[in-house]
Amino acid sequence: MSKEQFHFETKLIHNQHSVDKETGAVSTPIHHTSTFHQFDLDEFGKYDYARSGNPTRDVLEETIAELEGGVRGLAFSSGMAAISTAFMLLSKGDHVLIAEDVYGGTFRLVSQVLQRFGVDYDFVDTTNLEEVKQKLRPNTKVIYIETPSNPVLKITDIKAVCEIAKENNCYTFVDNTFLTPSLQKPLELGADVVLHSATKFISGHSDVVAGLAVAKDKELGDQLAFLQNTFGAVLGVQDCWLVLRGLKTLHVRMKESQQTAFELAKYLEEIPEVKKVYYPGLDNHEGREIHFSQSSGAGAVLSFVLEDVDAVREFVNAVEIPVFAVSLGAVESILSYPTKMSHAAMPEEERYKRGIEDGLLRLSAGLENTEDLIKDFNQAFQHIRKATKKKETNLAVDRGAL
Ligand SMILES: *Cc1c(COP(=O)(O)O)cnc(C)c1O
Repeated sequence: MSKEQFHFETKLIHNQHSVDKETGAVSTPIHHTSTFHQFDLDEFGKYDYARSGNPTRDVLEETIAELEGGVRGLAFSSGMAAISTAFMLLSKGDHVLIAEDVYGGTFRLVSQVLQRFGVDYDFVDTTNLEEVKQKLRPNTKVIYIETPSNPVLKITDIKAVCEIAKENNCYTFVDNTFLTPSLQKPLELGADVVLHSATKFISGHSDVVAGLAVAKDKELGDQLAFLQNTFGAVLGVQDCWLVLRGLKTLHVRMKESQQTAFELAKYLEEIPEVKKVYYPGLDNHEGREIHFSQSSGAGAVLSFVLEDVDAVREFVNAVEIPVFAVSLGAVESILSYPTKMSHAAMPEEERYKRGIEDGLLRLSAGLENTEDLIKDFNQAFQHIRKATKKKETNLAVDRGAL
């Protein structure tokens, strides 16, 4: 049986790099070196200077390429470093079509940095293919998507977008951070470059900031490698090792967290204080059918809407298990408040337009016991109820009704 035939979870453990070829080490050796001795004046070895290449980083890069089904992977010092470097493929005069609810850092890069270099852009609702077609220009070089999107988990049809891109001779970049290749493989659906914040599910333990890019073909891969070396935002070897260590359990973590997310989503739907739940695994989620045609699971991130910011405050103060933080995709459940965190820089009107109401919370399910989480949420909702009652009583007192 060849290793190519292995299932994804087996490949995470047994791949071309599961054993170090020189020493037999089953954990990838960390090569702490900035340069490599050349044994011959005329013939340099495979490695010369560590920004250009390092055996530890190679293992991570080749592993992620294999897992995403691409030809070349590249590791960067953060997700934003990977994304920024990929955008360096563009030149002055090019145009980018970008999903309107893209990650905040990507929004900032395109709207505040790339524009200074003469790269034009339009934000578009990529769930609407007609709008994508309408906003394409002859000089559009990249369509950039994220699906499910953050934080209301809107679904974009990856294959359809890739087809539109191909007809117009431009690339499709997909930020696959939310699902990872464990659940979704954009390159197989026609995308040209897959990008990751490996800070999230891929490493999975809230202990490293890292980014990955994978190219579908050799030419793009070589161009990205050239830019990686030129720009220089490479991932250090210790961090490469941490990402590799996290990767081995990616599949079991995703599976477990996804199950918890599903059960929490169903639970939250029944809570009177919750106005809406966003999760692709729910029957009523918009785009659910498209989602399951291109992904093997709904993922571990969900969002839900409470009455207002007061209810959010009560809830956040009362929950005990999830950490309240920016980020997602970790062993611990992470609760975040997009209005004041990821989308704080966005004007209120733009925020509301994207469904990011003042009562919206995002939860990334971790690996805790689901019943414990539900119990914790239950006591937090009790707090909201008590606070609401108190507010009503106070109002009644003010009115002189009591
Ligand atoms: C976190 C995140 C990024 C940015 O990655 P960093 O590692 O923080 O630089 C990009 N895209 C998505 C979807 C993210 O969640």
